Amino acid sequence: MDVLVIGAGACGLTTGICLAEAGLSVTIRAAAPPERTTSVAAGAVWGAVRVGPPERVLGWARTGLEVLSKLATEPATGVRMASGKEVSRTPLEPHYWTSLLPSLRPCGQSELPDGFADGWHYTAPVATMPVYLNYLRQRFEQAGGTLEVAAVRSLADLDGLAPVVVNCSGVGARDLVPDPEVVPIRGQVVITANPGIEEFYVNRDEEPPWIVYMFPHGDTVLLGGTNEEGAWDEEAKPYIAERIVAQCAAVDPRLHGVAILGHRVGLRPYRPEVRLESEPLGGGVLWHNYGHGGAGISLSWGCAGEIAAGILGP
Ligand SMILES: Cc1cc2nc3c(=O)[nH]c(=O)nc-3n(C[C@H](O)[C@H](O)[C@H](O)COP(=O)(O)OP(=O)(O)OC[C@H]3O[C@@H](n4cnc5c(N)ncnc54)[C@H](O)[C@@H]3O)c2cc1C
Repeated sequence: MDVLVIGAGACGLTTGICLAEAGLSVTIRAAAPPERTTSVAAGAVWGAVRVGPPERVLGWARTGLEVLSKLATEPATGVRMASGKEVSRTPLEPHYWTSLLPSLRPCGQSELPDGFADGWHYTAPVATMPVYLNYLRQRFEQAGGTLEVAAVRSLADLDGLAPVVVNCSGVGARDLVPDPEVVPIRGQVVITANPGIEEFYVNRDEEPPWIVYMFPHGDTVLLGGTNEEGAWDEEAKPYIAERIVAQCAAVDPRLHGVAILGHRVGLRPYRPEVRLESEPLGGGVLWHNYGHGGAGISLSWGCAGEIAAGILGP
């Protein structure tokens, strides 16, 4: 084995793919398989919220936009280009990273819900995460990679197992590294039947821990949501689900009485700055790739590419 990757979320799988497709022998070891990670709960639109530092995020986001836009041309990947808007009751500045989106434009008054003052409309890649994670897993295995489900108790135990270890353990890094700067931001979402919603919607007027958003995924819609800092509970809570549906139905009345198909909870691995750097591990090298907050789907290809370049050299 040339490389052992810890974690099978978006960051671990993309890192595994970049290294395996470059010809290295790669094993991913993960406590939970892709379909039980934080990644599966994501919305998931390209963007860079709750993540830093901006000067590195912008480069990773640019790569993510390029790669995901290409994947959107292949329906089997679960990624497609989607249009939608972010709105606010008060004047709204677009996020700095939206400068990468050629389609960004201010919303016209007729596009804003009642009571809203400002908004931005754009087109960006959106991933249906269960399908996308399955695509990533298959692509990794087709490149010769092996995925094993087992927890890593200590990084020191891995010394000698492979010359390179890459730590993509998401919120698990808090205990594994250990790194107290990693904090979970719990997000709960509801999956419903799609009553005809075609564009995504994000209300930027957050009332912590609540944030109202919806992402259509063909026959289903993902409704959100929450941002609960420091909460570790991975069980969906019925009172939160009810409030999410009610809040979204207040924006789009077609959601009143809609069939509820499922619930997902994910722990966003928040850290003031993504940790992407290497350090010695016994006689080998340990790369860290965690702390992607609310943007791990979007930044994963950029981070994976940077690590692959670091391991493979120029
Ligand atoms: C509700 C919600 C909406 C979101 N929306 C978006 C969005 O629209 N766009 C976007 O880009 N991002 C979004 N995110 C954020 C995104 O989901 C995360 O940033 C991303 O999933 C982090 O990926 P990861 O691979 O680092 O971690 P994870 O997906 O959590 O994967 C971590 C992996 O590490 C493994 N692991 C942990 N500890 C150990 C250990 N000790 N031993 C072995 N394995 C271990 C886990 O089992 C798992 O396999 C959203 C998140 C949530 C919750």
